[in-house]
Amino acid sequence: MDSSNEGRILSKAIGILEKLPVCDQCLGRQFAWLSTETSNRERGRSIKLLISMIADENMKSGKREEGIRLLKLLASIGSFHPAIEIASRYSIEIDPKKKCALCTHQGRSIFDIIPSIAQRFMTDVQEIEFSSFLVGCKPISEMMEREDEIRAEMGLLHGETLKADFNRELGKHLSRLLPQDTNFGQPDVVLVYDMLEDKLDIRLNPIFIEGKYRKLKRGIPQSRWECSKCRGKGCASCRQTGRMYPDSISEYIGEPILLAVQGTKYKFHGAGREDIDVLMLGTGRPFVVEVSEPKIRSLDLGKIEKKINRLSRKKVEVMDLRLSSRSVAQKYKEDASNNVKEYEAIIRTSEPVTQRALQETAEKLSGATIMQQTPERVSHRRSDLVREKQIHKVELTPRRDRRIKAFFRVQGGTYIKELISGDDGRTTPSLSEQLGTSCQCDELDVVRICNSHTP
Ligand SMILES: [Zn+2]
Ligand SMILES: [Zn+2]
Repeated sequence: MDSSNEGRILSKAIGILEKLPVCDQCLGRQFAWLSTETSNRERGRSIKLLISMIADENMKSGKREEGIRLLKLLASIGSFHPAIEIASRYSIEIDPKKKCALCTHQGRSIFDIIPSIAQRFMTDVQEIEFSSFLVGCKPISEMMEREDEIRAEMGLLHGETLKADFNRELGKHLSRLLPQDTNFGQPDVVLVYDMLEDKLDIRLNPIFIEGKYRKLKRGIPQSRWECSKCRGKGCASCRQTGRMYPDSISEYIGEPILLAVQGTKYKFHGAGREDIDVLMLGTGRPFVVEVSEPKIRSLDLGKIEKKINRLSRKKVEVMDLRLSSRSVAQKYKEDASNNVKEYEAIIRTSEPVTQRALQETAEKLSGATIMQQTPERVSHRRSDLVREKQIHKVELTPRRDRRIKAFFRVQGGTYIKELISGDDGRTTPSLSEQLGTSCQCDELDVVRICNSHTP
């Protein structure tokens, strides 16, 4: 063969067949990056057809020996039907057909079992709703090694991996059977075929639902709170319930969603959290519920909203439910101390204070930066640090019986109860410090959370 490109492709193809029995698909794959609008099978078949034409020409022009050699290669090693026909025309005896060395596992080509894998997938996902899927596989390592060896030996530079070839062929086959599209970004379903084990692994990606909640009753923690004595196992002090509080925001919201999407478990991501005795009012606190392995994705979110509100008996109220994504859940976490929160409080002072003192304190704290060391009461879940927090606005109005009604607009992550009490000097300046008398927070409500999602 000459050294021109056309000669090189042919001599490489013949070289491969001299070394290994190779099917059309696997021969074509070695040249996958050459030419488009075709399949590897078609590529391989075209190359073999051309070789069989050369063989036939050799036979006709008296180069019998070379012709027979090529026909034998194609017919036995390449299982190529046109070559078998030509060979029988010239009464050339052919060795029995050999199986492809690059794609045969347990006597079958893994490409030939694609239709049956696709059928198995169809059966397995019968009860599952999804709008997009992605195909993957775990190839057999010996197969990959054999292919790497032949490529190195023959200097093949335009081949595609067996894995990519198989994934695409299976994906193409499924696309013909399914109305859904393949999706490389965030598919609802991922199918992974393990070639060695002949196992089909179907992974359902989580569904994310976001919304806002209002907490209308005090005494409910955001997440399920395990009994600190038995750590959830159940003991006398928790009356065998395993928990400190009978309910939680995350359960009121998460359980009905879990049921609706028929998932296996859920995670509740709140944009921050309020204390157990603090109400969450106003436009509510954003959250995302992440449910693993959902079987249902087409949801009547209005109906779920109503169900949550009904089952929580007006302790919790959700609104603006809609489909969401992992990135929103992550953003809520990162945003928690960058957003702005508004609170209303009822404060009790030890000594009576004048209206003038209140006004001066409110003016002094509005726009101030405070230093806040992690309060003792949350030290079990937050590291002991001094944090700088912005206080944007404070309003103080006198009420009867040494009570003050207060409004605060502060940076997210500010501990309001400590801004009021001073927390034994750990928060400074504070209301107690400014008014010169000890102040306690009697009641606290979050009335507004402003972040990038709620302008
Ligand atoms: Zn093959
Ligand atoms: Zn207990």
